Parts: sequence; structure tokens; C-alpha cells
Amino acid sequence: MVDHRHFDIAIVGQGIAGTLMAHFLESYGKRVLVIDNGFQGSSSMVAAGIVNPVTGRNFVRSWRIHEFLPFAKDVYDTINAKLNIDCYTIANIIRALDTIEDENNWLARTQDDLVGQFMCTQADISEFEGKINKPLALGELHQTFRVHFAEILKAYKQYLQNKSSYLEDRFDYSKLVILDQGFTYEDYTFTELVFCEGYQTIHNPFFPKIGMAPSKGEVLIVKIPNANFRKMYKDKVFFVHQYDDIYWVGSGYDWDISSEAPTEKAFKTLSDEVARVLKVPYEIMEHKAAIRPTMHGRRPVFKVHQEISNMYLFNGLGTKGGSIGPFAAAQFARYIVHKDLQDLVLS
Ligand SMILES: Cc1cc2nc3c(=O)[nH]c(=O)nc-3n(C[C@H](O)[C@H](O)[C@H](O)COP(=O)(O)OP(=O)(O)OC[C@H]3O[C@@H](n4cnc5c(N)ncnc54)[C@H](O)[C@@H]3O)c2cc1C
Repeated sequence: MVDHRHFDIAIVGQGIAGTLMAHFLESYGKRVLVIDNGFQGSSSMVAAGIVNPVTGRNFVRSWRIHEFLPFAKDVYDTINAKLNIDCYTIANIIRALDTIEDENNWLARTQDDLVGQFMCTQADISEFEGKINKPLALGELHQTFRVHFAEILKAYKQYLQNKSSYLEDRFDYSKLVILDQGFTYEDYTFTELVFCEGYQTIHNPFFPKIGMAPSKGEVLIVKIPNANFRKMYKDKVFFVHQYDDIYWVGSGYDWDISSEAPTEKAFKTLSDEVARVLKVPYEIMEHKAAIRPTMHGRRPVFKVHQEISNMYLFNGLGTKGGSIGPFAAAQFARYIVHKDLQDLVLS
């Protein structure tokens, strides 16, 4: 008889990291239990999911984006088929070039094949004409898309619930019983355990000091009637279409994580920016905040517990869960299944 409370692997945390980890471990035939506290203000639930290969004021190519981007698309396509959803929307990014220096930097980068391959020769800003206060110049990036994190998480949760593989609860570390070969937690038993807790890993007693430097980001949800912006627009902040007339506008960085709540200061910065950019009427519908699992080293982290067999941590997707997440989760899931360090090529 199958023991329905026994799983090969338990995952704590169902943000995009835990979801992708579950997806890959299942692809190896593993029976996976996911435990998540259902926190609606997690980084994954608040993020825009933008996959942007060229970032910063100097327009540099994101770390290993030439590998991560096509890999991520394939993975999201597989999840589309598995869950019958739409994981991402392809949309170019229009970049405001506010100064002569920005414009010169942009032009210089178009000559660099590694970066220039993502830059359009000419920006088509027709959909923004008359609706934004134009900066000095504009550039356009292609091969960019936005991942629908919230939809993926919701659909994956439902999929796991349908097979009784989901526990909605805060994982209580003190209730974990460590056996010779595996673990028990309440009524469940499992052989391996992976923590994917985002910034909340700072409370995890099994993996203290992993080098996390969490950063808070704040977002406005804005209604812009009849704007029809389908490309993403990036000036000081991003404007990203969500559905109907609703747009995501964000987000800054704050290293004070003493509260998860939105702040008046960020509201003012974001609302001033919306007022500066838009020439058309709009309405601010919502203000949200979340804390990103950013690392001192700005790289994802995978840890194997030194004393407790079969206990792991996957975290540190930072500002780029949408692009780095699939590749990193695939590598680390392969290690968990095969225990072969040569498989680990993410560094
Ligand atoms: C404002 C903002 C904008 C962003 N924009 C983008 C973007 O455009 N593109 C991009 O790629 N990335 C973006 N990011 C970053 C992205 O959100 C992260 O890289 C990614 O979502 C991190 O996922 P995660 O699963 O590691 O963590 P989380 O999303 O934080 O998920 C962790 C989950 O584990 C749960 N959990 C934690 N501890 C426990 C416990 N003890 N028991 C049970 N459950 C637990 C949490 O509640 C949560 O559900 C943005 C982030 C923010 C805040």
C-alpha cells in the first residue's frame, strides 16, 4: 500500500525558487511535498517578473544571460504545458535615455555584439506618443519578457493540492525530527529536505549566515485608462502592463527591512515619478512592498548541510528570479538527485 504521508523530498517555501525546485525534482520522478505559509506579500507575489538582459545605467549584459534566457523560456514553456497556463508575456523594453551620457553609453553598447544583440536599431515608441513626457532620447531592447510569477505560484499550488502534496502552514523548525535516514514533521515523513524560504531564511536555525543582504522594494499598481502600453517602459522606474488598464510601477531599493509594510517615503518617490512620466490621467490603485532575497555576493546560493544528511538550501535569487531561477533550480535539483558535484556548474 502507498503511504500517502511519505514523500521523497519536502520543500519549505513556495515562491518561484520552491516552485521551480518542485518542478525539476518531480521531473526526476520524485514525490514532493511543499510546505508554504501562503504569505501574499512575498517577493515572488509582488515582483513584476521582468527578464531584462541589459541593465544599469551603463547598459551591461546581465550575468550569464545568454544561457539563462533561452533556458528560462524553455522551462516556462514546459510549465505552460504541464499546468495549462501562460507563464510569460513577450514585451520589448523602451529605455529612457535622460542625459547625453546615457545616450552615448547606449550608442557605444550597440557596437558591442554581446550587448548589441538585445538592442533594436531604432526605438519604436508609437504606442507612447503623446502619453508620456519624453526624455532626451529613447532606446529599445528586444528578447525581453515578463514572467507571471503570481499565476505560476497559484497554478502550481493548485496542482500540488490536487494530489495532496501541499501543506499550507508556517514550517516550525522545532517540530522537525531528524532520523538516521530522513525526517518526520507532524504526520509526514520524507527522505530529503530543501529550504527555499526567500529572505525569511534569516530565521532558519539550520543555515545561519548564508550571506543574505535582503532588500526591500515598493510598487504602485496604477490604472491608466486607454493607455494601451504593451511594451515595458523604463525611466527611473519600470511601467509594466498587467491586464486591462492596470500597470505595475516600481521599484526602488531599501536596505531597512525592519518592516514589510509599504512606506510613505517610497509612495512619494513612486507617485512623483508617475506624475513626472505620464501626460495622461491615471489613478493609483494600490501600494505594495516586499523583501527580496538579495545576497552580498549577488549570486544564487545552494547549500548542503554539513552535519545533517539530506538537508539543503536553495536561495539568493535576488533581483532576478525570473531569469536565474530556472537554470539555478535545474542545476541544484540535479545535484540533489545524483549527488554529483560535477553537475554543479553554476558559480
Ligand atoms: C518589488 C520587487 C520587484 C521585483 N521585480 C523583479 C523582476 O521584475 N524580475 C525578476 O526576475 N525578479 C524580480 N524581483 C525579485 C524576485 O521577486 C525574486 O528573485 C524571487 O521572487 C525570489 O523568490 P524566492 O522563492 O526565493 O522567495 P520568495 O518569493 O520570498 O518565496 C519564499 C516563500 O517561502 C515562504 N516561507 C518562508 N519561510 C517559511 C516557513 N518557515 N514556512 C513556510 N513558508 C515559508 C514565504 O512566505 C514565501 O511564500 C522583484 C522583487 C521585488 C520585491
